[in-house]
Amino acid sequence: PLVIGIESSCDETGVAVVRGRELLANEVASSVEQHVRFGGVVPEVASRAHLQAMVPTLRRALQAADVDASEVDGVCVTAGPGLMGALVVGLSAAKALAVALDKPLYGLNHLVGHVAVDLLDHGPLPERFGALLVSGGHTSLLVIDDITSQITEVGSTIDDAAGEAYDKVARLLGMGYPGGPVIDKVAADGDPRAIAFPRGLTARHDLEKHRFDFSFSGLKTAVSRWVETERRAGRPFADADVAASFQEAVADVLTAKAMDMCDHFGLDTIVLGGGVAANSRLRGLLAERAEGRGVTVRRPRPGLCTDNGAMMAALGAEVVRRGHRPSSLDIGANSGLPISTVLV
Ligand code: ATP
Ligand code: MG
Ligand code: FE
Repeated sequence: PLVIGIESSCDETGVAVVRGRELLANEVASSVEQHVRFGGVVPEVASRAHLQAMVPTLRRALQAADVDASEVDGVCVTAGPGLMGALVVGLSAAKALAVALDKPLYGLNHLVGHVAVDLLDHGPLPERFGALLVSGGHTSLLVIDDITSQITEVGSTIDDAAGEAYDKVARLLGMGYPGGPVIDKVAADGDPRAIAFPRGLTARHDLEKHRFDFSFSGLKTAVSRWVETERRAGRPFADADVAASFQEAVADVLTAKAMDMCDHFGLDTIVLGGGVAANSRLRGLLAERAEGRGVTVRRPRPGLCTDNGAMMAALGAEVVRRGHRPSSLDIGANSGLPISTVLV
């Protein structure tokens, strides 16, 4: 199938075109610079930016793909989760396009798109596999029997998401927003064993109830306390060591629990997805640990990990291929769409 994918759940306006499993175009306009001075995404600013960027981005994608919109088999769009005002812009654009072209509309789950996007890089997804979803708002372990209809969340964060922890730690180190890419870069010159930061929910008594769950708020507090103590004592320290030690703690817990899931559920493939999947240490450590256990790791190229239209087009093409019924033209956006709902 030939599909258009439209994404607008946060601060990226993304439009992509996919034919089969081939990415023909992937245009992204980001409003991130407009949020930097606020230290986080301002919903209303994001919505306005989507409204401005949507049509030009769509035009650029169709032109780059060199396809005529009338050839498409479906208009695929993020229906949730995300910022309500931001989602509404993409969904309205997709509905208008579907009506104008007289083509079916598919309202899809953004988080599932973060996993599905890997098929553009590494081919068809296996029958049954595990996924580690790590993004700005979510951190989950998934068992997936069918990427278009059968997704089970076996664990998730009980407080902050991994990306959120990156953003908060970067802020307290004065590194700006968004924090993930900066910490990743700074950590390259630091010692990951310099400071022993806590690994949330890995103690024996926690594992009984929270074997596949995560907690990152204690880690963030530990980093904050450590930095404060050193500053008050007038002891100089290297930001790079703090960044590297924090990053190691996050990657250690994520990969250990992902491997435990593979063992427990008998999964031989794990797909990494979400904005934090771009993190170099997480990518490296997951590959290292998986190799030791004979588990195949699939990691989308870093450029496809953060929000984009390709993820929705990749998932949409799969949904169309399986012959699922299109969405109704009166569907709404759902800011809290559960990950088990792939197609609205
Ligand atoms: P969600 O997908 O849960 O709705 P989102 O769409 O806002 O949230 P993504 O775009 O998937 O989030 O991911 C953004 C997050 O990824 C930010 O928190 C950012 O700091 C983090 N991130 C991006 N690159 C890296 C990196 N190299 N290392 C660590 N974190 C990163
Ligand atoms: Mg973003
Ligand atoms: Fe996302």
